[in-house]
Amino acid sequence: MITTVIISMLCVHLLCFCLMFWLISARLNGKKMGMEVFALGNFLLGLAYILQLLEGPPGWGFMSVASHTLTFCAPVAYVLGAMRFFDRPTPVLRPLLAVAAVYTMLQLLMQSLFGQEARHALLAGLCAMLFLAMTVAVLYGRRSFAKDLHVEMLVFAVLIGGICLLNAAKFLLIIDGGMAALDMSSGFQKVFYIYMSFLATVLPPCAVWLVLRRLTDELLTLAAHDPLTRLLNRRGLMDALEAHFRSRAAGPAYLLMVDIDHFKRINDTLGHNVGDLVLCHVADVLKATARQGDLVCRLGGEEFVIIALDTDHVGAMQLAERTRAAIEYSEVPSTSDSQLIRCTATIGVSGQFTRAQAFEAFLQQADAALYQGKTAGRNRVEWSYVSES
Ligand code: GH3
Ligand code: MG
Ligand code: MG
Repeated sequence: MITTVIISMLCVHLLCFCLMFWLISARLNGKKMGMEVFALGNFLLGLAYILQLLEGPPGWGFMSVASHTLTFCAPVAYVLGAMRFFDRPTPVLRPLLAVAAVYTMLQLLMQSLFGQEARHALLAGLCAMLFLAMTVAVLYGRRSFAKDLHVEMLVFAVLIGGICLLNAAKFLLIIDGGMAALDMSSGFQKVFYIYMSFLATVLPPCAVWLVLRRLTDELLTLAAHDPLTRLLNRRGLMDALEAHFRSRAAGPAYLLMVDIDHFKRINDTLGHNVGDLVLCHVADVLKATARQGDLVCRLGGEEFVIIALDTDHVGAMQLAERTRAAIEYSEVPSTSDSQLIRCTATIGVSGQFTRAQAFEAFLQQADAALYQGKTAGRNRVEWSYVSES
C-alpha cells in the first residue's frame, strides 16, 4: 500500500515537472537546451508508472511490456536531452523509437526463452548499466565539456550513481529470489521507490538551475561584448579592469586608443557593409597583436581601446607600434576578389595607471595623444608621458 502511494506521488512529480520543462522549452524559442526532451523523458517515465499501477502485481501482459519499454526509454531520453543541453545536436524521436522497438523485442525474447524473472532482471540489469554509463559520462564531463559546472556535475554523478546501485541490487535480488524480490511490500521496493521519488523531486530543479545558469551567463556575455566585433564593450572593459586591479599582484596598465583613419571615407566610397567588414578585421588584428591577458575593447564607432596589463612604458609602446604596423600591412578580407582594401589607424597611448577609477582620466589622456597623431598626419603612434600622481 505504502509503495503504491509512493509511486502515485512519483507519477504526480514526474508529470508536473514534465509540464514545467515543456513550458520552459516553449519560452526558450530557438535554443531549447534539451528541455523539451527532458519533458518527454518525464512523460515516458510517468506513463510507465501509471501503467505499472494499473497493472497491479507484476505479471505478463501488454501493460507490463509497455511499462518496461517506457521505463527503459525514459533515461535514454534524458541522455539525448543532456546532449542537446551541451550543444551536441541530436535527433530524438528516431533513436527513441528504435530503442523502444529493440527493447520490446528483447523483452518478448526473454519472456519466451527464460520467463517472467528474466524479463524483469533484464530491465533492472540494463538500467543499471545505462545509469553506470551516465555516471561515468557525467564524471568525465566535469573534466571536459562541463568544466564550468564542476559542482553540479558531481551532484548529478552521486544522484545517478545511487539509482545505478539500486538497479544493480534489484537485478541481483531477482536472480537470487525470483519474482518475490518485486513484492511491493518488501523493504527493498520501498527504498527503491522512495529513492526514485527523491530523484524525481531533486533532479528537475537541478536541471532548471543549469538552464538558468546558461541563460544568465549568456546575458552577462551579451551585456559585456560588442555584437559586431565580439570584443569587450565599455562596460565589459570596466568590469575586467576592476577584476584585474582587485588582484594584489596586479601591475600597472597603459591605455592605447586606436582610431581608424578616414573611416568615414571607407563607408562613403565602399558602403556601410564594407565599413563593418573593416571594423571586424581591425578587431581581429587587435586581438592577434595584443598579448594574452590584455584587454581589447570596441569603445564605439571606429574607436578601439587596448589596455596593456602588467607592462612598462617600453612594452606599451612596442605593442602600439606592432598594432599600428599590423593594421597598415594587413589586408581586409573582402567578398570581391578585385577589391583590395587596406586601412591605417592612429594610436594614442596614455601614461601608466594602477586603479580602475583612473580609467576615464587616462582615456582622455590617450584621446589627447590620439588627436595629436591625427593632426600630425595619421597612421602613427603618439603618447602622453603623464602618469598617475
Ligand atoms: P579620422 O581619420 O579623423 O578619424 O576620420 P574618420 O572618418 O575615421 O572619423 P569620423 O569620426 O569623421 O567618422 C567615423 C565614421 O564611423 C562615421 C560613422 O558613420 C562611422 N561608423 C560609426 N559606427 C559604425 C559602424 O558600426 N559601422 C560602420 N560601417 N560605420 C560606423
Ligand atoms: Mg577615425
Ligand atoms: Mg573617431
